Amino acid sequence: MAQPLRLIESSPKLPARTDVVVIGGGIIGVFAGYHLARRGMSVAVVEKGRIGAEQSSRNWGWCRQQNRDARELPMATRSLELWEQFAADTGEDTGFSRCGLFYLSNDEAELDRWARWRDFAKTAGVTTHMLSSSEATQRGQATGRPWKGGAFSPTDGTADPSKAAPAVAAALMKLGGSVHQQCAARGLELEGGRVSGVVTEAGTIKTRIVVHAGGAWASSFCRQLCIRFPAATVRQSIVRVPPVKQRLPDTLHTARVSITRRGDGSYTLAISGRGRVDPTPQLLRFAPQFVPMFAKRWRNVFPGGLEGIRGGHETLSRWRLDAPTPMERMRVLDPRPDAAAVRQTYRRAVELLPALGEGGIADTWAGFIDSTPDGVPVIGEVPQIPGFILAAGFSGHGFGIGPGAGHLIADLVTGAPPIFDPAALRHERFGGSAWGQVADF
Ligand SMILES: Cc1cc2nc3c(=O)[nH]c(=O)nc-3n(C[C@H](O)[C@H](O)[C@H](O)COP(=O)(O)OP(=O)(O)OC[C@H]3O[C@@H](n4cnc5c(N)ncnc54)[C@H](O)[C@@H]3O)c2cc1C
Repeated sequence: MAQPLRLIESSPKLPARTDVVVIGGGIIGVFAGYHLARRGMSVAVVEKGRIGAEQSSRNWGWCRQQNRDARELPMATRSLELWEQFAADTGEDTGFSRCGLFYLSNDEAELDRWARWRDFAKTAGVTTHMLSSSEATQRGQATGRPWKGGAFSPTDGTADPSKAAPAVAAALMKLGGSVHQQCAARGLELEGGRVSGVVTEAGTIKTRIVVHAGGAWASSFCRQLCIRFPAATVRQSIVRVPPVKQRLPDTLHTARVSITRRGDGSYTLAISGRGRVDPTPQLLRFAPQFVPMFAKRWRNVFPGGLEGIRGGHETLSRWRLDAPTPMERMRVLDPRPDAAAVRQTYRRAVELLPALGEGGIADTWAGFIDSTPDGVPVIGEVPQIPGFILAAGFSGHGFGIGPGAGHLIADLVTGAPPIFDPAALRHERFGGSAWGQVADF
């Protein structure tokens, strides 16, 4: 694991019974657990590896409304408020700030798309500014070149992926919840068709509600329960460079490369949307559903290699509850970065902002982004198994919207009015008309 990540201690003992068990200690699982614990429910989070060690510590840290799909925008807006409220309520540091997100372009078609999104966002009460050529060039002066235009979303921001999930897990433990690392959930116990317990490698926890927030592993887990959850993973690579002397923008997206200033002053560099698809049995199974998605994004997505097979997260095999499972064989999905993408990302970033080349490359890493065919997550109870709530398939956006997703999950569990309408996120959509409705961004 190359990416920095705060380590937290596990709770001493697995409880025999809780109101809710959360499977998966990424940003979604810990925020779900936190919001449930705030409402007085007893919660255990079981994590097969380390809190936050998969996607939730490998991302850029962007918490954005800018260019969000209409189905996700309300969750993005509420999440920004909840990031702030979390810090105020707990004193825990997630590194969140509303530093604004900054976009530059020389492509008229792209600028038109952003302007159309700005008009739509206005109807949802979200402010974003289109920048004229002189404004974009002025704001982007660190690049030392003129720009046709840009966009700036002042109320968006970033949080620090090396701190956020562990901070939320720590807060959840202070509220009385428990967190169990190196503790894979192997499967469920059912009584009369509804959830009655979770079988983990360390013992069984009796419960009537399970939240599955297992990220890239969710689809294969669902398969054990005869639940069809179409998902595919794309491997994206990241470069980190050390702090530099010149003051650069906190965030900057261009079509060629994007940069993000991290909490320690270093920078994360990446090419937006660029990734490799590593063939796996699960990918072949769901390939027909992903045709519209890959057709839309083919310019940036390339065939991969054996990393998916090595990960084991997309196996079609069935596993037993009394023997080690693929999750115990791969505690942390840590795929190899794509060497070509790393070279290209670094070269483009230094071309754009030469100061980023001062200290060379500090680290590189990769992560598997779990995506649904329509590019928005599933959050909701799966009707087939009462008590089983699926929260996965965050399609590259889950970090920023983690707080809102966690709040919504707590609403669904407790029967409170939902923080936003979850209808578009239901699992049942895959049985019907979702084919082809790929999120725009
Ligand atoms: C390179 C990259 C850049 C990204 N950039 C951004 C960004 O800028 N902004 C943004 O909003 N999003 C971004 N994302 C997406 C974001 O990181 C994810 O959507 C989000 O972290 C998903 O959180 P999660 O909790 O669902 O999954 P994860 O963080 O992957 O966590 C799932 C956890 O479940 C555990 N688990 C799985 N199965 C079991 C089991 N059976 N028992 C116990 N534990 C289990 C795993 O070990 C894992 O820790 C990016 C992702 C990547 C890879």
